[in-house]
Amino acid sequence: MGIKNILINILSPPRCVFCMSPLSIKSTVCVCHGCMETLPYNNGKRCRICAAPLDIQYGDLYCHYCKRHKRAYAQNISRYIYKDKAAGAIKHMKFGKGQLWIADTLGKLLAETIKEEYADILFDLALYVPISKKGLRERGFNQSQIIAEAVCKELGIEKPGDVLVKISETPKQSGLELAKRRKNVKGAFEVTDDNKIMDKTILLIDDVHTTGATVHECAKTLRKAGAAVVFCATVASTSLNK
Ligand SMILES: [Zn+2]
Ligand SMILES: [Zn+2]
Repeated sequence: MGIKNILINILSPPRCVFCMSPLSIKSTVCVCHGCMETLPYNNGKRCRICAAPLDIQYGDLYCHYCKRHKRAYAQNISRYIYKDKAAGAIKHMKFGKGQLWIADTLGKLLAETIKEEYADILFDLALYVPISKKGLRERGFNQSQIIAEAVCKELGIEKPGDVLVKISETPKQSGLELAKRRKNVKGAFEVTDDNKIMDKTILLIDDVHTTGATVHECAKTLRKAGAAVVFCATVASTSLNK
């Protein structure tokens, strides 16, 4: 966290990332009690592989997409369903300037879900979905990196390095239909040092799991470079019921 953000935290009391209501100065995680109770948690029926929320009456264990496509990652977990206040906070984090504290809080919260749902897995290292150099210049930060750093701090894993990089510019995924999203990111990522990921159990972190095309491509790249297995953790997941 930069000096500017530390100053902002000192000068203004902590706020809830979901509703912006002020919190007690002692709050360690920026979420109010009301939001904590009412957020759209992804703890109902969901796809066993990608964690897409499924309608209660949906007859299968897997979503339509996972039934038809192989995923390069073993499993994804998501703390929230991408809607209501959860979607609001993520949009605010991405498009607001200097909203690193939101990413940091969402990372702390995601760590709770990782501890619960991946309790039996020992991760060798954690990585985040990278953005291109141009993207980083434009936005000034990669929210997935901030989330991943907060997760690592909570879980006691070493801070994620830039072993996985994005080497090509890709058009924005939003607005593209499912099939086109995979094509769009194909070959977009690269591992900078195979030795660091060889035979490793990797935790890959991103903000939102939509079709999963991006994390799939990242996991594919990591496995090609020698990773043993890749598990994903994302703050929120959209529904793939349609
Ligand atoms: Zn709140
Ligand atoms: Zn699925």
